Amino acid sequence: MSRLILILCLTLCSVFARGGDWTVYSVSGRDYLSMENIAEFYGLPKVQRTEREITISSGIRSLRASANSADFFINNLKFILSYPTVVKDGKICVSRMDLVKLIEPVMRPSAIKNAPNIDTIVLDAGHGGHDNGAMSLWGPEKAYALDTVLRAKALLQAAGYKVVLTRDGDYFVPLDDRVRFANRYPNAIFIAVHFNSGGWGTGVETYSLAPRGVPSMMADGPSVSDLVQCTGNARDAENIALATASHAALVLKTHMFDRGLKRARFVVIRDIAIPGVLLECGFQSNPYDGKMIATPLYRQTLAQAILAAVTNYKRAVGAPGAAPRQAVQATQTSPSYDVSAAPSVRTDDGSDAKAPKAQGDSDGDPDSDSKSTAKNDADGDSKSAAPTKSNPPAEKNAEPKASKSPQFKKPTVATPDPPAPPKKKKPAAKNK
Ligand SMILES: [Zn+2]
Repeated sequence: MSRLILILCLTLCSVFARGGDWTVYSVSGRDYLSMENIAEFYGLPKVQRTEREITISSGIRSLRASANSADFFINNLKFILSYPTVVKDGKICVSRMDLVKLIEPVMRPSAIKNAPNIDTIVLDAGHGGHDNGAMSLWGPEKAYALDTVLRAKALLQAAGYKVVLTRDGDYFVPLDDRVRFANRYPNAIFIAVHFNSGGWGTGVETYSLAPRGVPSMMADGPSVSDLVQCTGNARDAENIALATASHAALVLKTHMFDRGLKRARFVVIRDIAIPGVLLECGFQSNPYDGKMIATPLYRQTLAQAILAAVTNYKRAVGAPGAAPRQAVQATQTSPSYDVSAAPSVRTDDGSDAKAPKAQGDSDGDPDSDSKSTAKNDADGDSKSAAPTKSNPPAEKNAEPKASKSPQFKKPTVATPDPPAPPKKKKPAAKNK
């Protein structure tokens, strides 16, 4: 305990002694930094402020935040903050956790250390077999997810990627088997495809694994399990870069309502050792979305979005290797993702604007968190570095190794050739 206190004291001392460029506000035990401060750090000179909102920008790069809101926009793409903004000294402030785990890797994805080259895309069609997923008037989620994945596979292969599928037919594959399958491929990324359900909700949303210490947006609140370091957390920076590339592509290609990029601990993105993302490509429960999902044209558009996501991710993290043949959206000057050209043609029912809580699939709680609540204090492992001009202040709760060299788990099975997808297995808990 004394060691922890010592580390904490040293950390705080270093923040205030050397972090002259940052003004850190502490609110309810959590550190926040003003948008003005963040603008200065990223060299975004233009600051537009109203009473409720602030936009900082330079050319096409922009960050937008609202007072006491979890909605946050980077280059007009919507993200849901892990903690709503606060107002201190009349300034809208963002949590240090969100700065380190969201804004920084999205704004500077090429700064992600040791992002490995990828040669394989693992596509995961949700549900299957007895597990239909969400139903619409036109058909089951399992069928649309598989069709989308098969279309994406064809496009990716045509672009020169190796593609493997966790399922290639209408059979059930337990979540753990999907994870084991994905973990056979060290030089791969994992993309799960689902369709949403929940009342009249509409639009697309993208899930990235919640960093350690961050509550899942699918849970009722903070949980002790939030403090557990999951396998996937070794890939926090790549996860958010992949999710950003995916969400930008989804919004741009489909023109669906942008529900935002959110955090969760779905099993398939929690336990994999490679960068992963879970896409919710529209609402089966909404007649407008459901009818569109049932059209081959929409699913082909989703497949194109997946190809663009992979291409943009590779470019964003600057991973070497086979250059994709397809043109990409991102510009050289902006390492992140401009979606200003993507109009949202639909409006939501309003629920999205109020709370970051996501509407998940109708197939049960897809999150693995225990529901027991606990104070989400940074009670150990404080490795918070002093903020500098080249690095944002480190997050106390964050996994200390996340931005360092990520370690792959050794593949458990040597697979010179792509193994067959896992075959039909016994029913297990419904989950993603
Ligand atoms: Zn689903």
